[in-house]
Amino acid sequence: MNTVESLKKTKKKLHDAGFKLTPQREATVLVLLEKEKDHLSAEEVFFFVKQKNSDIGLATVYRTLEILTELKVVDKISFDDGVSRYDLRKEGAKHFHHHLLCLECGSIEEIDEDLLGSVEEIVEDRYHFQVKDHRLTFHGICRSCQQKRKEEKIEG
Ligand SMILES: [Zn+2]
Ligand SMILES: [Zn+2]
Ligand SMILES: [Zn+2]
Repeated sequence: MNTVESLKKTKKKLHDAGFKLTPQREATVLVLLEKEKDHLSAEEVFFFVKQKNSDIGLATVYRTLEILTELKVVDKISFDDGVSRYDLRKEGAKHFHHHLLCLECGSIEEIDEDLLGSVEEIVEDRYHFQVKDHRLTFHGICRSCQQKRKEEKIEG
């Protein structure tokens, strides 16, 4: 999906929930769409929004991110540093995507497939817990760091 289309959908979601897409909110949504692959903190979002619309305060960005979280346009997530980050939810995804966090270089990769169907079934059957969503982060060594390790071994 392209940015214009995604922006339109988000606009409709805001409208349906009784919020207006002010220029400040639009700039915030645009930054999230453009940095889809990143996991930005509120301060980082503010930094980029400020470049588009200098007439915006951090409080407005915070509030907008809160609204977008409520509407499930974004998900709030934190990794090892404990900082809250905002992550665009994948269109049509029932549950939140998973993350692969590299312990060496700190890179974060995303997995869009849910993969948890059978686990969710066990949780529902055995624990009588109705699964609505989940947060899953795998900690490990990414592909390029594995490659680097191999090369270092060969050289050294
Ligand atoms: Zn993510
Ligand atoms: Zn799931
Ligand atoms: Zn790595």
